[in-house]
Amino acid sequence: MKDQADRIQALDAAHVLQTYRRQPVTFVRGEGAWLYDAHGRGYLDLLSGIGVASLGHAHPRLAAAVAEQAATLVHTSNLYHHPWQAPLAARLAELSGLARAFICNSGTEANEACLKFARRYWHAGGEPRPRLVALEHAFHGRTLGALSVTWDEHYRTPFAPLVPGVSWVSPDDPAALQTAVTRETAAIILEPIQGEGGVRPISAAFAAAVRDACERTGALLIADEVQCGLGRTGVCFHSTTLELKPDLMALGKALGGGVPVGAALVSAEVAAAIAHGDHGTTYGGNPLACRAALVFLEELVDGGLLDRVRSAGAHLEEGLNRLAARFGSILEIRGAGLMRGVALDRDAAPVVEAALERGLLVNRTAGSVIRLLPPLTIAAEEIDLGLERLAAALAAAFGKETAHGVGADAHHSH
Ligand SMILES: *Cc1c(COP(=O)(O)O)cnc(C)c1O
Repeated sequence: MKDQADRIQALDAAHVLQTYRRQPVTFVRGEGAWLYDAHGRGYLDLLSGIGVASLGHAHPRLAAAVAEQAATLVHTSNLYHHPWQAPLAARLAELSGLARAFICNSGTEANEACLKFARRYWHAGGEPRPRLVALEHAFHGRTLGALSVTWDEHYRTPFAPLVPGVSWVSPDDPAALQTAVTRETAAIILEPIQGEGGVRPISAAFAAAVRDACERTGALLIADEVQCGLGRTGVCFHSTTLELKPDLMALGKALGGGVPVGAALVSAEVAAAIAHGDHGTTYGGNPLACRAALVFLEELVDGGLLDRVRSAGAHLEEGLNRLAARFGSILEIRGAGLMRGVALDRDAAPVVEAALERGLLVNRTAGSVIRLLPPLTIAAEEIDLGLERLAAALAAAFGKETAHGVGADAHHSH
């Protein structure tokens, strides 16, 4: 007789549109940094659903708030007021310094809104600016607008033509940015730490070039903080660590602790260009999503989570650096706080598989990078256990640990 997991996976194979290559595991519940499969086996979750389950799984306060809200009022549409959207917008404004928020349902929608608002700003001024500047290795989402400023050809080419007028700049080339940004540029869009592109932080030199280019041309800056923002690196918004002052900011992932919600934050100047009817969403910012986001922000800022992320992030970094000294296949540890990439000299897929077999969840991004985005609530002992399992997975996938730079070619496992 087939068990539950087999049944679910067979139904998926038959009826779910096959856009995802899933790992062969079916999770039925979670608690903190742990997920449990249909057979009751526990997995240490160092990915938190790609940085979404920010308070860990089944967080008691979030669960209680969502349950209470579900039993009270889930949806009204944006035709009316409800008690939770305006307080969420106010809280986001207080934390970011950006005056107003448009609440939506996902990261790509937040970027889509930012791109539209940037265009709208220049239209309102009577001098529309047709061009956008985006970065190589950027990821901003899968809808057509966000896809148009996303770098990976595999995501883009099958859906051409996309939004025209995008100039691409290498994040390693501040001079090229200066050339690319002109008075035709409506906005520069960038991730302060590129996530899907391989956990690549923007350098201080590049950030300085961004500031110069914006000042020189008036181009707006859109910071995509969907992955690196909201406490992930130990601060509310990672752009502040680069002394960037975005005019617009996209948020998502961690914001609802698992309940889908995103936000496009805009400066007072940009907000002044937006009129009734310019943009909208049917269920964006509904009571359930906004309540969840408020609980998350309270835990993050008032509950002391930011401090915990800073110390947990330092602990994780030390442990990863020790791993890098042991394994020749590790080229570099990148990122900040609890957003870390382990860049390998080869495909990372065998490590992800070996980790899964050992009860550890991580993922591969940009082909050769192991990405870690644990829940912001993770404990030091859980980080230690995760590092132990990751070391075992590296050893299993690539052979014995090696002195750095030696034996990277040995035991290549396929
Ligand atoms: C995940 C992500 C997005 C897209 O978010 P979705 O909720 O999947 O639409 C956009 N930008 C960045 C930086 C992301 O990491």
